Amino acid sequence: MKIYAVGGYNEVGKNMTVVNVEGDSIVIDNGIRIDVLQMYDLEPEAMRVAEQKKRLAEVGAIPNMAGVEGNILAQVISHGHLDHIGAVGINNLNVPLFATPYASAIGRRISPESKFNPTQYKKIVQINNIGIEFVEVTHSIPQASIVVLHTKEGNVVYANDFKLDDASNIAKVDYGRLKEIGKEGVKTFITESLNAHEKGKTPSESVAARNVEDTIKFADDSGGLTIVSTFSTHIERLKTIFETAHRLNKKVVVMGKSLISNLKSAEDLSLIKISKDIKFIRKINSVMDLLKSIENKKEEYLIIATGHQGEEHSVLSKIVNSDFKFDKNDSVIFSSNVIPTATNIANREILEAKFKANKVKIFRDVHVSGHASKEEHRRMINLLNPEIIIPSHGTTKMKGAYMDLACEEGYKINKNLFILNNGDKIEI
Ligand SMILES: [Zn+2]
Repeated sequence: MKIYAVGGYNEVGKNMTVVNVEGDSIVIDNGIRIDVLQMYDLEPEAMRVAEQKKRLAEVGAIPNMAGVEGNILAQVISHGHLDHIGAVGINNLNVPLFATPYASAIGRRISPESKFNPTQYKKIVQINNIGIEFVEVTHSIPQASIVVLHTKEGNVVYANDFKLDDASNIAKVDYGRLKEIGKEGVKTFITESLNAHEKGKTPSESVAARNVEDTIKFADDSGGLTIVSTFSTHIERLKTIFETAHRLNKKVVVMGKSLISNLKSAEDLSLIKISKDIKFIRKINSVMDLLKSIENKKEEYLIIATGHQGEEHSVLSKIVNSDFKFDKNDSVIFSSNVIPTATNIANREILEAKFKANKVKIFRDVHVSGHASKEEHRRMINLLNPEIIIPSHGTTKMKGAYMDLACEEGYKINKNLFILNNGDKIEI
């Protein structure tokens, strides 16, 4: 078996791993680096244009598949985050794509020509000699999965991204199936390492829900406009925001294309129920019209908007740059972290400075991470008991923290624990 580390092995973003057994290859994930798109002001809508593709490859925003060999049979997508699915229409491999229904819905929207096959958990799809299986796991998006490839040379398990949250309202960890797969035997385990340096366990999404509720109530006490921004695919978080607004009797307006599309896809799959009273506004002109119309009754509204990373073309940036009159009673709640890249950190600082200049109250990090901390990673190793571990998704420092943990669990570097960089290949 050969494993190709294509992308995501030296950074946060553009994930891709290729598994090759007896000449047949399966491509797992095909993501973009959103921070690089922002850095060069590349519009996601124009990404599929040929010259843009060249530009995206040059600036390192998409996985570089040079050197990958074998007959590619299929692509498998672990979940619907853009750093795992965003390049399907750019690195278009023209092979069948397999993903859970929610990830498939997102994939079809960003790349209508891609052949997505929505696949349920607990079902093994057989392609030649390789079986593809999705195992349910918790993350910060509905229907995230651990991908298992059943091959003649043993099972490959790909856990990229996940957390072990036993109190989530919309997902669960299928510990039973993970244990079974561990008993069957795991030849190679490829795992994310983003938060491996964090001790203990990542708090449950139910902890974030309490915090979000408390913060919205607190902001509402000021009697001004409340704006909340969060990840557009974080359906569980959005559910909490809707429910809190409903309890406070506030009118909800959702602003921004990605929020609206991802919510509608979730509603189509019955992952969320959206009240008819909630208003959706896609176009920025209509956003401005609405804001003008509520200038004298701001306290009645809760706005959910895109732009928590300070993205230039998002609703939050457009609002703060407009002539809308904010005052000291208004609040902006960031129900997100700042993605730890130079571009995101800088853009967010600028955005917050502008809100501050308008006297708007700012609430940061009303959020918990969707990524496993050290003890969750240890539990996963113990459940699967893999022969070989390859840390992925993360910078060298993040992978280093994972290596420390794996060494604590008895693994030995270059014997059964391997550090790979983008472009590396390993034969097992
Ligand atoms: Zn993710």
